[in-house]
Amino acid sequence: MSVSVEKDFDVVIGLETHVQMSTNTKCFCSCKVEFGAEPNTNVCPVCLALPGSLPVLNKRALDFAIKASLALNCKVHQLSIFARKNYFYPDLPKGYQISQYDKPLATDGYIDIKVDGKTQRVRIHRLHMEEDAGKTIHEGKKSYVDLNRAGTPLMEIVTEPDITSAVGARLYLEKLRNIMRYIGVSDADMEKGQLRCDVNISLKPKGSKTLGTKVEIKNLNSFRFVQKAIEYEILRQAKMLEKGENIIQETRLFDASANKTFTMRTKEEAHDYRYFPDPDLLPVRITIEYIQKIKQTLPELPDEKEKRYVQEYGLTEYDAGVLVADKDLASFFEETVNLYPKNPKVTANWIINELLGRLNEKGINIKESPVKPEHIAQLVKLIDEKVISGKIAKEVFGEVFETQKSPEEIVEQKGLKQITDPEEIRKIIEDIIKSNPKEVEKYKAGNTKLIGFFVGQVMKATKGKANPQLVNKLLNQLLNS
Ligand code: ADP
Ligand code: MG
Ligand code: ZN
Repeated sequence: MSVSVEKDFDVVIGLETHVQMSTNTKCFCSCKVEFGAEPNTNVCPVCLALPGSLPVLNKRALDFAIKASLALNCKVHQLSIFARKNYFYPDLPKGYQISQYDKPLATDGYIDIKVDGKTQRVRIHRLHMEEDAGKTIHEGKKSYVDLNRAGTPLMEIVTEPDITSAVGARLYLEKLRNIMRYIGVSDADMEKGQLRCDVNISLKPKGSKTLGTKVEIKNLNSFRFVQKAIEYEILRQAKMLEKGENIIQETRLFDASANKTFTMRTKEEAHDYRYFPDPDLLPVRITIEYIQKIKQTLPELPDEKEKRYVQEYGLTEYDAGVLVADKDLASFFEETVNLYPKNPKVTANWIINELLGRLNEKGINIKESPVKPEHIAQLVKLIDEKVISGKIAKEVFGEVFETQKSPEEIVEQKGLKQITDPEEIRKIIEDIIKSNPKEVEKYKAGNTKLIGFFVGQVMKATKGKANPQLVNKLLNQLLNS
Protein backbone atom coordinates (compact mmCIF):
# COMPACT_ATOMS: atom_id res chain seq x y z
CA MET A 1 0.00 0.00 0.00
CA SER A 2 1.36 3.42 -0.82
CA VAL A 3 0.38 6.41 1.24
CA SER A 4 0.61 9.86 -0.21
CA VAL A 5 0.89 11.92 2.92
CA GLU A 6 0.96 15.32 1.26
CA LYS A 7 -2.07 14.62 -0.90
CA ASP A 8 -4.29 13.10 1.77
CA PHE A 9 -3.27 14.68 5.07
CA ASP A 10 -2.32 17.90 6.82
CA VAL A 11 0.55 17.43 9.23
CA VAL A 12 0.11 19.24 12.56
CA ILE A 13 3.06 19.69 14.92
CA GLY A 14 3.52 21.51 18.22
CA LEU A 15 6.82 21.64 20.11
CA GLU A 16 7.60 21.81 23.81
CA THR A 17 11.20 22.88 24.23
CA HIS A 18 13.34 23.15 27.31
CA VAL A 19 16.10 25.71 27.20
CA GLN A 20 18.76 25.72 29.89
CA MET A 21 19.65 29.23 30.95
CA SER A 22 23.35 30.04 31.21
CA THR A 23 23.32 31.46 34.72
CA ASN A 24 26.33 30.90 36.97
CA THR A 25 24.19 29.44 39.72
CA LYS A 26 21.05 27.34 40.07
CA CYS A 27 17.47 28.57 40.01
CA PHE A 28 16.70 28.46 43.74
CA CYS A 29 20.08 28.08 45.46
CA SER A 30 23.61 29.36 44.96
CA CYS A 31 25.16 26.08 43.74
CA LYS A 32 27.24 26.35 40.59
CA VAL A 33 25.81 25.28 37.24
CA GLU A 34 28.62 23.38 35.61
CA PHE A 35 28.73 20.85 32.78
CA GLY A 36 30.77 17.70 33.36
CA ALA A 37 31.66 18.29 37.03
CA GLU A 38 32.40 15.41 39.43
CA PRO A 39 28.98 13.92 40.37
CA ASN A 40 27.22 15.42 43.39
CA THR A 41 29.78 18.17 43.97
CA ASN A 42 27.52 21.10 43.07
CA VAL A 43 24.83 20.42 45.65
CA CYS A 44 23.51 22.00 48.85
CA PRO A 45 20.63 21.49 51.31
CA VAL A 46 18.21 23.26 48.96
CA CYS A 47 18.82 21.18 45.84
CA LEU A 48 19.25 18.04 47.94
CA ALA A 49 15.85 18.79 49.51
CA LEU A 50 17.06 18.55 53.09
CA PRO A 51 14.31 19.36 55.61
CA GLY A 52 14.05 23.00 56.57
CA SER A 53 15.87 24.36 53.51
CA LEU A 54 14.13 27.09 51.56
CA PRO A 55 14.39 28.12 47.90
CA VAL A 56 15.20 31.69 46.84
CA LEU A 57 14.61 32.70 43.22
CA ASN A 58 17.75 33.53 41.21
CA LYS A 59 17.12 37.05 39.92
CA ARG A 60 19.38 36.57 36.95
CA ALA A 61 17.36 33.54 35.84
CA LEU A 62 14.20 35.64 36.02
CA ASP A 63 15.85 38.44 34.01
CA PHE A 64 16.99 35.94 31.39
CA ALA A 65 13.52 34.44 31.10
CA ILE A 66 11.99 37.91 30.73
CA LYS A 67 14.55 38.77 28.08
CA ALA A 68 13.82 35.54 26.19
CA SER A 69 10.07 36.16 26.42
CA LEU A 70 10.50 39.60 24.91
CA ALA A 71 12.78 38.31 22.16
CA LEU A 72 10.06 35.77 21.32
CA ASN A 73 7.46 38.54 21.08
CA CYS A 74 5.59 37.29 24.14
CA LYS A 75 3.44 39.22 26.56
CA VAL A 76 5.28 39.18 29.89
CA HIS A 77 2.90 39.00 32.84
CA GLN A 78 3.36 41.19 35.87
CA LEU A 79 2.30 38.31 38.09
CA SER A 80 3.47 34.74 37.73
CA ILE A 81 3.42 31.92 40.25
CA PHE A 82 5.70 28.99 40.97
CA ALA A 83 3.91 25.70 41.49
CA ARG A 84 4.88 22.25 42.64
CA LYS A 85 4.62 19.55 39.99
CA ASN A 86 4.47 16.36 42.01
CA TYR A 87 5.86 13.06 40.83
CA PHE A 88 8.20 10.41 42.13
CA TYR A 89 11.56 9.72 40.58
CA PRO A 90 14.97 9.02 42.12
CA ASP A 91 16.59 12.06 40.50
CA LEU A 92 13.95 14.39 41.97
CA PRO A 93 14.81 14.61 45.69
CA LYS A 94 11.95 16.90 46.72
CA GLY A 95 9.34 14.65 45.15
CA TYR A 96 8.20 17.63 43.13
CA GLN A 97 9.63 19.93 40.50
CA ILE A 98 9.26 23.66 40.93
CA SER A 99 7.60 24.89 37.76
CA GLN A 100 4.97 27.37 36.69
CA TYR A 101 1.50 26.13 35.89
CA ASP A 102 -1.62 28.27 35.54
CA LYS A 103 0.28 31.56 35.87
CA PRO A 104 3.26 31.33 33.55
CA LEU A 105 5.74 34.16 33.11
CA ALA A 106 4.79 34.89 29.52
CA THR A 107 2.30 33.94 26.80
CA ASP A 108 1.27 34.74 23.23
CA GLY A 109 4.49 35.17 21.30
CA TYR A 110 5.75 33.93 17.96
CA ILE A 111 8.76 32.99 15.87
CA ASP A 112 8.71 33.47 12.11
CA ILE A 113 10.42 30.79 10.08
CA LYS A 114 11.06 30.61 6.36
CA VAL A 115 9.94 27.36 4.74
CA ASP A 116 10.69 27.07 1.01
CA GLY A 117 11.17 30.83 0.85
CA LYS A 118 7.77 31.52 2.45
CA THR A 119 7.45 33.05 5.90
CA GLN A 120 5.46 30.93 8.35
CA ARG A 121 4.48 32.18 11.78
CA VAL A 122 4.76 29.71 14.64
CA ARG A 123 2.81 31.08 17.59
CA ILE A 124 4.20 30.54 21.04
CA HIS A 125 1.55 29.52 23.51
CA ARG A 126 3.58 30.10 26.67
CA LEU A 127 7.01 30.44 28.22
CA HIS A 128 7.49 29.45 31.82
CA MET A 129 10.36 28.95 34.24
CA GLU A 130 11.17 25.72 35.99
CA GLU A 131 14.03 23.80 37.54
CA ASP A 132 15.77 20.81 36.02
CA ALA A 133 15.89 17.39 37.69
CA GLY A 134 19.07 15.46 38.42
CA LYS A 135 20.44 12.66 36.29
CA THR A 136 20.06 8.91 36.73
CA ILE A 137 22.88 6.87 35.28
CA HIS A 138 22.32 3.16 34.74
CA GLU A 139 25.22 0.70 34.73
CA GLY A 140 24.24 -2.93 34.47
CA LYS A 141 22.07 -3.72 37.47
CA LYS A 142 23.10 -0.62 39.32
CA SER A 143 21.76 2.90 39.03
CA TYR A 144 23.43 6.07 40.19
CA VAL A 145 21.99 9.48 40.86
CA ASP A 146 23.89 12.68 40.13
CA LEU A 147 22.20 15.81 41.50
CA ASN A 148 24.56 18.40 40.02
CA ARG A 149 21.93 19.28 37.45
CA ALA A 150 19.05 19.35 39.95
CA GLY A 151 17.82 22.92 40.23
CA THR A 152 19.38 24.22 37.01
CA PRO A 153 17.13 26.99 35.64
CA LEU A 154 15.13 26.12 32.54
CA MET A 155 12.59 27.80 30.36
CA GLU A 156 9.88 25.69 28.81
CA ILE A 157 8.66 27.16 25.56
CA VAL A 158 5.46 25.69 24.12
CA THR A 159 4.22 26.42 20.61
CA GLU A 160 0.71 26.34 19.23
CA PRO A 161 0.20 23.45 16.77
CA ASP A 162 1.32 25.67 13.87
CA ILE A 163 4.20 23.68 12.40
CA THR A 164 3.33 21.70 9.29
CA SER A 165 6.39 19.59 8.45
CA ALA A 166 9.48 17.90 9.83
CA VAL A 167 11.62 20.53 8.15
CA GLY A 168 9.49 23.27 9.70
CA ALA A 169 10.08 21.80 13.16
CA ARG A 170 13.80 21.78 12.56
CA LEU A 171 13.78 25.36 11.25
CA TYR A 172 11.80 26.52 14.28
CA LEU A 173 14.27 24.91 16.66
CA GLU A 174 17.27 26.31 14.84
CA LYS A 175 15.75 29.76 14.94
CA LEU A 176 14.93 29.39 18.62
CA ARG A 177 18.51 28.37 19.34
CA ASN A 178 19.75 31.29 17.28
CA ILE A 179 17.62 33.81 19.16
CA MET A 180 18.73 32.40 22.55
CA ARG A 181 22.34 32.84 21.48
CA TYR A 182 21.77 36.36 20.17
CA ILE A 183 20.37 37.49 23.49
CA GLY A 184 22.97 35.55 25.48
CA VAL A 185 20.60 33.68 27.80
CA SER A 186 21.66 30.20 26.67
CA ASP A 187 24.17 28.49 24.45
CA ALA A 188 21.25 26.24 23.52
CA ASP A 189 23.63 23.47 22.57
CA MET A 190 21.56 20.34 21.92
CA GLU A 191 24.53 18.04 22.40
CA LYS A 192 25.01 19.34 25.91
CA GLY A 193 21.33 19.03 26.69
CA GLN A 194 20.88 22.79 26.86
CA LEU A 195 18.07 22.55 24.32
CA ARG A 196 15.72 19.56 24.62
CA CYS A 197 12.61 19.03 22.65
CA ASP A 198 9.36 17.06 22.89
CA VAL A 199 7.41 16.84 19.66
CA ASN A 200 3.62 16.52 19.36
CA ILE A 201 2.33 15.25 16.03
CA SER A 202 -1.02 14.49 14.52
CA LEU A 203 -2.47 14.15 11.05
CA LYS A 204 -5.87 15.23 9.81
CA PRO A 205 -7.66 14.81 6.49
CA LYS A 206 -6.52 17.52 4.08
CA GLY A 207 -8.30 20.79 4.85
CA SER A 208 -10.19 19.47 7.88
CA LYS A 209 -10.77 21.94 10.71
CA THR A 210 -10.59 19.46 13.60
CA LEU A 211 -7.25 18.30 14.90
CA GLY A 212 -6.45 14.62 14.93
CA THR A 213 -5.25 12.62 17.94
CA LYS A 214 -1.69 13.56 18.79
CA VAL A 215 1.30 11.49 19.71
CA GLU A 216 4.12 12.95 21.74
CA ILE A 217 7.74 11.99 21.11
CA LYS A 218 9.92 12.80 24.07
CA ASN A 219 13.55 13.71 24.65
CA LEU A 220 14.87 14.34 21.19
CA ASN A 221 18.42 15.55 21.52
CA SER A 222 19.59 16.53 18.06
CA PHE A 223 18.14 18.52 15.18
CA ARG A 224 18.60 15.55 12.91
CA PHE A 225 16.73 13.21 15.26
CA VAL A 226 13.87 15.70 15.57
CA GLN A 227 13.47 15.68 11.83
CA LYS A 228 13.93 11.91 11.47
CA ALA A 229 11.53 11.07 14.30
CA ILE A 230 8.85 13.31 12.82
CA GLU A 231 9.31 11.89 9.34
CA TYR A 232 8.94 8.38 10.70
CA GLU A 233 5.95 9.27 12.84
CA ILE A 234 4.11 10.99 9.99
CA LEU A 235 4.39 7.87 7.85
CA ARG A 236 3.41 5.58 10.71
CA GLN A 237 0.27 7.58 11.44
CA ALA A 238 -0.61 7.98 7.77
CA LYS A 239 -0.42 4.22 7.21
CA MET A 240 -2.65 3.56 10.21
CA LEU A 241 -5.22 6.15 9.20
CA GLU A 242 -5.35 4.84 5.63
CA LYS A 243 -6.12 1.41 7.04
CA GLY A 244 -8.95 2.93 9.05
CA GLU A 245 -7.18 2.40 12.37
CA ASN A 246 -7.32 4.88 15.23
CA ILE A 247 -4.29 6.72 16.51
CA ILE A 248 -3.79 6.14 20.22
CA GLN A 249 -2.84 9.18 22.26
CA GLU A 250 0.47 8.18 23.76
CA THR A 251 4.02 9.15 24.48
CA ARG A 252 6.69 7.56 22.32
CA LEU A 253 10.46 7.53 22.24
CA PHE A 254 12.75 7.64 19.23
CA ASP A 255 15.29 4.91 18.67
CA ALA A 256 17.92 6.58 16.53
CA SER A 257 19.73 3.38 15.54
CA ALA A 258 16.53 1.72 14.30
CA ASN A 259 15.21 5.06 13.02
CA LYS A 260 11.81 4.28 14.60
CA THR A 261 9.58 5.53 17.37
CA PHE A 262 8.15 3.14 19.97
CA THR A 263 5.59 3.36 22.77
CA MET A 264 6.78 4.70 26.13
CA ARG A 265 3.43 5.15 27.87
CA THR A 266 -0.20 5.51 26.90
CA LYS A 267 -2.68 8.07 28.13
CA GLU A 268 -3.95 5.76 30.89
CA GLU A 269 -0.49 5.70 32.40
CA ALA A 270 -0.12 9.48 32.24
CA HIS A 271 0.83 11.28 35.44
CA ASP A 272 -1.48 13.34 37.54
CA TYR A 273 0.92 15.94 38.80
CA ARG A 274 -1.39 17.50 41.41
CA TYR A 275 -0.03 20.97 40.81
CA PHE A 276 -0.40 23.55 43.57
CA PRO A 277 1.28 26.89 44.29
CA ASP A 278 4.61 26.49 46.07
CA PRO A 279 4.10 27.98 49.56
CA ASP A 280 7.87 28.46 49.94
CA LEU A 281 8.12 30.93 47.08
CA LEU A 282 6.52 34.33 46.74
CA PRO A 283 4.47 35.11 43.67
CA VAL A 284 6.72 36.80 41.12
CA ARG A 285 5.68 40.42 40.67
CA ILE A 286 7.38 42.61 38.11
CA THR A 287 6.59 46.16 37.10
CA ILE A 288 6.02 47.43 33.58
CA GLU A 289 9.07 49.65 34.06
CA TYR A 290 11.19 46.64 34.88
CA ILE A 291 10.03 44.80 31.77
CA GLN A 292 10.72 47.94 29.77
CA LYS A 293 14.22 48.16 31.20
CA ILE A 294 15.01 44.62 30.14
CA LYS A 295 13.51 45.25 26.72
CA GLN A 296 16.07 47.99 26.22
CA THR A 297 18.88 45.48 26.68
CA LEU A 298 17.71 43.37 23.71
CA PRO A 299 20.25 43.41 20.90
CA GLU A 300 19.35 43.53 17.23
CA LEU A 301 17.63 40.19 16.59
CA PRO A 302 18.09 37.96 13.52
CA ASP A 303 14.95 39.14 11.69
CA GLU A 304 15.81 42.81 12.11
CA LYS A 305 19.39 42.14 11.13
CA GLU A 306 18.31 40.33 8.01
CA LYS A 307 16.10 43.25 6.98
CA ARG A 308 18.92 45.70 7.60
CA TYR A 309 21.39 43.69 5.53
CA VAL A 310 18.96 43.75 2.62
CA GLN A 311 18.19 47.46 2.93
CA GLU A 312 21.55 48.83 3.97
CA TYR A 313 23.91 46.51 2.14
CA GLY A 314 21.77 45.41 -0.79
CA LEU A 315 22.19 41.72 -0.01
CA THR A 316 19.66 39.22 -1.29
CA GLU A 317 17.24 37.96 1.34
CA TYR A 318 18.81 34.54 0.98
CA ASP A 319 22.36 35.73 1.64
CA ALA A 320 21.23 37.92 4.54
CA GLY A 321 19.40 34.90 5.94
CA VAL A 322 22.51 32.73 5.78
CA LEU A 323 24.61 35.36 7.56
CA VAL A 324 22.19 36.12 10.38
CA ALA A 325 21.47 32.44 11.06
CA ASP A 326 24.62 32.41 13.19
CA LYS A 327 25.40 35.30 15.50
CA ASP A 328 29.14 34.81 15.16
CA LEU A 329 28.91 34.70 11.39
CA ALA A 330 26.89 37.92 11.36
CA SER A 331 29.54 39.56 13.56
CA PHE A 332 32.27 38.33 11.23
CA PHE A 333 30.47 39.86 8.26
CA GLU A 334 29.86 43.17 10.02
CA GLU A 335 33.45 43.41 11.14
CA THR A 336 34.61 42.83 7.58
CA VAL A 337 32.23 45.45 6.22
CA ASN A 338 33.44 47.93 8.84
CA LEU A 339 37.01 47.39 7.69
CA TYR A 340 36.09 47.73 4.02
CA PRO A 341 32.64 49.25 3.58
CA LYS A 342 32.73 49.71 -0.18
CA ASN A 343 31.41 46.42 -1.47
CA PRO A 344 29.29 44.56 1.10
CA LYS A 345 27.65 42.36 -1.53
CA VAL A 346 30.93 40.97 -2.76
CA THR A 347 32.13 40.68 0.83
CA ALA A 348 29.05 38.62 1.66
CA ASN A 349 29.69 36.39 -1.35
CA TRP A 350 33.22 35.65 -0.27
CA ILE A 351 32.14 34.81 3.24
CA ILE A 352 29.20 32.65 2.20
CA ASN A 353 30.64 30.84 -0.79
CA GLU A 354 34.37 30.57 -0.21
CA LEU A 355 34.83 30.86 3.53
CA LEU A 356 31.79 28.93 4.74
CA GLY A 357 32.35 26.29 2.08
CA ARG A 358 35.88 25.72 3.24
CA LEU A 359 35.04 25.87 6.96
CA ASN A 360 32.23 23.33 6.57
CA GLU A 361 34.51 21.05 4.60
CA LYS A 362 37.01 21.07 7.45
CA GLY A 363 34.45 21.10 10.25
CA ILE A 364 35.72 24.38 11.68
CA ASN A 365 33.33 26.97 13.10
CA ILE A 366 33.51 30.63 12.22
CA LYS A 367 35.01 31.64 15.54
CA GLU A 368 38.04 29.43 14.89
CA SER A 369 38.35 30.44 11.24
CA PRO A 370 41.96 30.85 10.11
CA VAL A 371 40.71 33.51 7.71
CA LYS A 372 39.88 36.70 9.61
CA PRO A 373 37.68 39.68 8.71
CA GLU A 374 40.77 41.76 7.87
CA HIS A 375 41.82 39.11 5.33
CA ILE A 376 38.49 39.17 3.51
CA ALA A 377 38.38 42.97 3.67
CA GLN A 378 41.81 43.19 2.08
CA LEU A 379 41.00 40.60 -0.53
CA VAL A 380 37.84 42.38 -1.68
CA LYS A 381 39.75 45.66 -1.76
CA LEU A 382 42.47 44.11 -3.94
CA ILE A 383 39.81 42.90 -6.36
CA ASP A 384 37.96 46.22 -6.36
CA GLU A 385 41.17 48.09 -7.06
CA LYS A 386 41.94 45.65 -9.85
CA VAL A 387 45.22 44.60 -8.29
CA ILE A 388 44.11 41.00 -8.73
CA SER A 389 41.37 39.31 -10.71
CA GLY A 390 38.56 37.39 -9.08
CA LYS A 391 40.11 34.16 -10.26
CA ILE A 392 43.48 34.89 -8.75
CA ALA A 393 41.69 36.03 -5.61
CA LYS A 394 40.44 32.47 -5.15
CA GLU A 395 43.99 31.22 -5.28
CA VAL A 396 45.02 33.88 -2.78
CA PHE A 397 42.11 32.98 -0.54
CA GLY A 398 43.20 29.35 -0.46
CA GLU A 399 46.67 30.46 0.51
CA VAL A 400 45.36 32.73 3.28
CA PHE A 401 43.33 29.82 4.61
CA GLU A 402 46.41 27.58 4.72
CA THR A 403 49.02 30.07 5.92
CA GLN A 404 47.10 32.95 7.54
CA LYS A 405 49.37 35.35 5.67
CA SER A 406 47.73 38.55 4.52
CA PRO A 407 46.42 38.66 0.93
CA GLU A 408 48.74 41.59 0.14
CA GLU A 409 51.75 39.66 1.28
CA ILE A 410 50.76 36.62 -0.78
CA VAL A 411 50.12 38.69 -3.90
CA GLU A 412 53.50 40.36 -3.45
CA GLN A 413 55.48 37.20 -2.73
CA LYS A 414 53.95 35.15 -5.52
CA GLY A 415 53.89 37.94 -8.06
CA LEU A 416 50.15 37.62 -8.58
CA LYS A 417 49.46 41.23 -9.43
CA GLN A 418 47.18 41.70 -12.35
CA ILE A 419 48.68 42.75 -15.65
CA THR A 420 46.98 45.99 -16.47
CA ASP A 421 49.51 47.35 -18.92
CA PRO A 422 47.74 47.34 -22.34
CA GLU A 423 51.05 47.18 -24.19
CA GLU A 424 52.11 44.05 -22.41
CA ILE A 425 48.79 42.37 -23.10
CA ARG A 426 48.78 43.55 -26.71
CA LYS A 427 52.14 41.83 -27.30
CA ILE A 428 50.88 38.59 -25.85
CA ILE A 429 47.75 38.71 -27.99
CA GLU A 430 49.76 39.40 -31.11
CA ASP A 431 51.87 36.31 -30.41
CA ILE A 432 48.78 34.21 -29.94
CA ILE A 433 47.25 35.48 -33.17
CA LYS A 434 50.43 34.57 -35.00
CA SER A 435 50.63 31.05 -33.68
CA ASN A 436 46.94 30.23 -34.21
CA PRO A 437 46.19 31.21 -37.83
CA LYS A 438 43.45 28.59 -38.30
CA GLU A 439 41.44 29.81 -35.34
CA VAL A 440 41.86 33.41 -36.45
CA GLU A 441 40.55 32.49 -39.88
CA LYS A 442 37.51 30.72 -38.45
CA TYR A 443 36.83 33.62 -36.14
CA LYS A 444 36.96 36.09 -38.98
CA ALA A 445 34.65 33.85 -41.00
CA GLY A 446 31.99 34.34 -38.36
CA ASN A 447 32.68 31.81 -35.62
CA THR A 448 32.77 34.47 -32.92
CA LYS A 449 32.43 31.87 -30.20
CA LEU A 450 36.14 31.32 -30.63
CA ILE A 451 36.70 34.45 -28.57
CA GLY A 452 36.60 32.12 -25.57
CA PHE A 453 39.49 30.16 -26.99
CA PHE A 454 41.59 33.31 -27.36
CA VAL A 455 40.77 34.55 -23.88
CA GLY A 456 41.81 31.16 -22.59
CA GLN A 457 45.13 31.36 -24.45
CA VAL A 458 45.89 34.80 -23.02
CA MET A 459 45.07 33.64 -19.50
CA LYS A 460 47.24 30.59 -19.98
CA ALA A 461 50.12 32.71 -21.17
CA THR A 462 49.75 35.11 -18.23
CA LYS A 463 48.90 32.47 -15.61
CA GLY A 464 45.54 34.10 -15.18
CA LYS A 465 46.96 37.48 -14.32
CA ALA A 466 45.80 39.50 -17.30
CA ASN A 467 43.02 41.96 -16.54
CA PRO A 468 39.95 40.31 -18.12
CA GLN A 469 38.30 43.54 -19.30
CA LEU A 470 41.47 44.62 -21.06
CA VAL A 471 41.93 41.21 -22.61
CA ASN A 472 38.43 41.31 -24.04
CA LYS A 473 38.78 44.83 -25.32
CA LEU A 474 42.15 44.23 -26.99
CA LEU A 475 41.17 40.87 -28.44
CA ASN A 476 38.16 42.47 -30.07
CA GLN A 477 40.31 45.24 -31.49
CA LEU A 478 43.07 43.02 -32.79
CA LEU A 479 40.94 40.21 -34.15
CA ASN A 480 38.61 42.58 -35.95
CA SER A 481 41.29 44.73 -37.52
P1 ADP B 1 -0.69 18.18 26.84
O1 ADP B 1 -1.69 18.59 27.84
O2 ADP B 1 -0.80 16.79 26.35
O3 ADP B 1 0.73 18.57 27.18
P2 ADP B 1 -1.09 20.56 25.35
O4 ADP B 1 -2.44 21.00 24.89
O5 ADP B 1 -0.47 21.23 26.51
O6 ADP B 1 -1.10 19.00 25.53
O7 ADP B 1 -0.14 20.74 24.12
C1 ADP B 1 1.18 20.34 24.15
C2 ADP B 1 1.77 20.60 22.78
O8 ADP B 1 1.10 19.81 21.80
C3 ADP B 1 1.65 22.02 22.29
O9 ADP B 1 2.85 22.38 21.65
C4 ADP B 1 0.50 21.97 21.32
O10 ADP B 1 0.65 22.93 20.30
C5 ADP B 1 0.64 20.60 20.73
N1 ADP B 1 -0.62 20.02 20.28
C6 ADP B 1 -1.82 20.07 20.90
N2 ADP B 1 -2.75 19.40 20.19
C7 ADP B 1 -2.10 18.89 19.12
C8 ADP B 1 -2.52 18.09 18.00
N3 ADP B 1 -3.76 17.65 17.86
N4 ADP B 1 -1.59 17.77 17.08
C9 ADP B 1 -0.32 18.20 17.20
N5 ADP B 1 0.11 18.96 18.21
C10 ADP B 1 -0.77 19.29 19.16
MG1 MG C 1 2.76 18.44 27.55
ZN1 ZN D 1 22.05 23.82 45.71
